[in-house]
Amino acid sequence: MTPAMPEASASPYPHLLAPLDLGFTTLRNRVLMGSMHTGLEDRARDVPRLAAYFAERAAGGVGLIVTGGYAPNVEGWLKPFAGAMTRGAHARRHRAVTDAVHAHDAKICLQLLHAGRYAYHPLSVAPSKAKAPINPFTPRPLSARGVERTLRAYVRAARLARDAGYDGVEVMGSEGYLINTFASARTNRRDDAWGGDLPRRMRFATEIVARIREACGPDFILIHRLSMLELVPDGSPWHEIVAQAQAIEAAGATLLNTGIGWHESRVPTIATSVPRAAFAGVTAKLRPHVGLPLVTTNRINTPEVAEAILAGGGADMVSMARPLLADPDWVAKARAGRPEAINTCIACNQACLDHVFANRTVSCLVNPRACAETELNYLPAATPKRIAVVGAGPAGLACATVAAARGHQVTLFEAGDAIGGQFNLARRIPGKEEFDETLRWFRHRIAETDVELRLGTTADIDMLTGYDVVVLATGVRPRPVDFAGHDRPDVITYLDVLSGRIVPGRRVALVGAGGIGFDVAEFLAHDGPSPTLDPARWMRDWGIDPAFEAPGGLLPAQPAAPARELWLLQRSPGRPGSRLGKTTGWIHRAALKAARVQMLGGVGYERMDDAGFHIRIDDTPQVLPVDHVVICAGQEPHRPLQAPLEAMGVSVHVIGGADVAAELDAKRAIAQGSRLAADL
Ligand code: FAD
Ligand code: NAP
Ligand code: SF4
Repeated sequence: MTPAMPEASASPYPHLLAPLDLGFTTLRNRVLMGSMHTGLEDRARDVPRLAAYFAERAAGGVGLIVTGGYAPNVEGWLKPFAGAMTRGAHARRHRAVTDAVHAHDAKICLQLLHAGRYAYHPLSVAPSKAKAPINPFTPRPLSARGVERTLRAYVRAARLARDAGYDGVEVMGSEGYLINTFASARTNRRDDAWGGDLPRRMRFATEIVARIREACGPDFILIHRLSMLELVPDGSPWHEIVAQAQAIEAAGATLLNTGIGWHESRVPTIATSVPRAAFAGVTAKLRPHVGLPLVTTNRINTPEVAEAILAGGGADMVSMARPLLADPDWVAKARAGRPEAINTCIACNQACLDHVFANRTVSCLVNPRACAETELNYLPAATPKRIAVVGAGPAGLACATVAAARGHQVTLFEAGDAIGGQFNLARRIPGKEEFDETLRWFRHRIAETDVELRLGTTADIDMLTGYDVVVLATGVRPRPVDFAGHDRPDVITYLDVLSGRIVPGRRVALVGAGGIGFDVAEFLAHDGPSPTLDPARWMRDWGIDPAFEAPGGLLPAQPAAPARELWLLQRSPGRPGSRLGKTTGWIHRAALKAARVQMLGGVGYERMDDAGFHIRIDDTPQVLPVDHVVICAGQEPHRPLQAPLEAMGVSVHVIGGADVAAELDAKRAIAQGSRLAADL
């Protein structure tokens, strides 16, 4: 291993910033920007945007970048016409990307991803005819000739990547994609040269690595992403993982990256409720068994966490994808000893993975510039103005800090005694502790950009005179309900509960099963510390073997007993939670199911009285014997200042929940605030 350079060892993160000598080349530090599909991979016209996106991360100091996945052939497409590396024209197009990254002295590898049975199209192939539970398409089993053709496709794609100027490739061998399904007995039911015992099952992976090495030469970075913890029933046992890692090393890989879980796993692996670095122990467990450098991954988002892993000998590099979406200058800020300046990824998935699954270009909730680098820029203002921003929730915070960074003179009024608005409530939910980081970052930006912050100040018309521009970011108010008894003291709102003003009894009904209803149920189901802050508890809750020994790493789940008896209700028919985030909704539903929360749809609300909460489902009356009813029935805009200001002829902009409360989230609030500020 390379000793730390003087510059690195003088920093608070000497292991993280130490170069890594790969023999034929040296990486400038231990940060690998992990592969992440952005939606800019698939069309030639998006190449300039992709190049700009990677260039900012390279300029921000990252050591090695891995692109989103590109298929080696048509069968391997993730979806119809997905990004592929199959022709010279593809390679020529990628030059813009590799040149942009090399201009900033970073290195970049192309990820080769054959989707296998996760391919969302009818041409999908797999080792055996076994449909994935998350895909409607049944794959065709590859013949022996088909296997050979696929191997040649991988080699051709790697050669093209080299022609395109890439420093290497990452072979995606995990997450349940094609290579992974060959290696695992769960999905490989063949009995030929490519299936049966482990040597034959893992031959597909080792042939790919060996042939790419031979075709691309010894000075080409070859990363293999190995599924080290599958988190699926009947998954690979640990001794098979070790054998695969050793075979991949012998075949000529340069680096071994860690893959955690398959896409069909029913255990969260990267959501915000996953403890930080929860799975780094898997990489550490493998390290004594191999000689090549190992990359660890999943829920590593701060320099402190990364440094601790590397200093403890758990890995040679850390992979981060989303944290570099959130802050392209993550490495530069760590190098400068300014971790407080990092805009930390809160692992919400709302603008990144949720967008991928909705076929939308990726961005970032806390950084709307991500993947918008060519069109959203915070340039110095031509004419500095005096700007008043009313409300320091996410919308107002984003607007005030971006406007001030551009040179405007900004005053930010906040009625409460702290910044954050509703985000201050979100961060109290067990599993949403990361949301604190965004508020820490905004506090830092307020100081750095000289925003004048007036806490504890409810702005009125008089206070808002004399400004060139007034921005109202005054947020939302809970939607009132009108069933009989709604004004009783035992009918309360989520604000009462989350602010700590009222502690509900042991039996509680929640009216409204949107994001906030689910969150409040999570809050009320727990007593004591959040499982996210207690990794051992969290692993028991989800049935993960802390020793990572059991097949697939799974044991029977042992969820903690809930603190309360809860009913989560909605008027719409069907299962509550169907409108939650694509990549996280199932986690919220599973967590509440484990807490034995009764989730009911098609509910009519009749009245609350001393007997309990009277409801009706399918015309059948029921009385829920509850101590409290908590209203989580959505929001309405709060903008009492708008009309009077406009009547006075003041130029007013309304953003965030004050503008539109329906389907409001912090992603929209921050993006709207930032975009307005970019235009002022
Ligand atoms: P708000 O956050 O409501 O902020 C408005 C601010 O204006 C308040 O601080 C208020 O005090 C201030 N104000 C009002 N009038 C005045 C005045 N006259 N003078 C001075 N100040 C004034 N969103 C997500 O994207 N992801 C999540 O996971 C998520 N989880 C949530 C969990 C919970 C429990 C809650 C309650 C919300 C959650 N949200 C989440 C929603 C998110 O917090 C809101 O969408 C976001 O806060 C809205 O931002 P905003 O700035 O428009 O309004
Ligand atoms: P929401 O998602 O719109 O849900 C409101 C709930 O209240 C629905 O279940 C709705 O269902 C019910 N409802 C609406 N009008 C009602 C009425 N008059 N009486 C009784 N029930 C009524 O709003 P929210 O839960 O307040 O969340 C606000 C926003 O915060 C969301 O849009 C979300 O994006 C964001 N958020 C996100 C997350 C996350 O994890 N991503 C978490 C929390 C919040 P019925 O109409 O069927 O009864
Ligand atoms: Fe991280 Fe959320 Fe941004 Fe995705 S959208 S990069 S999870 S902060």
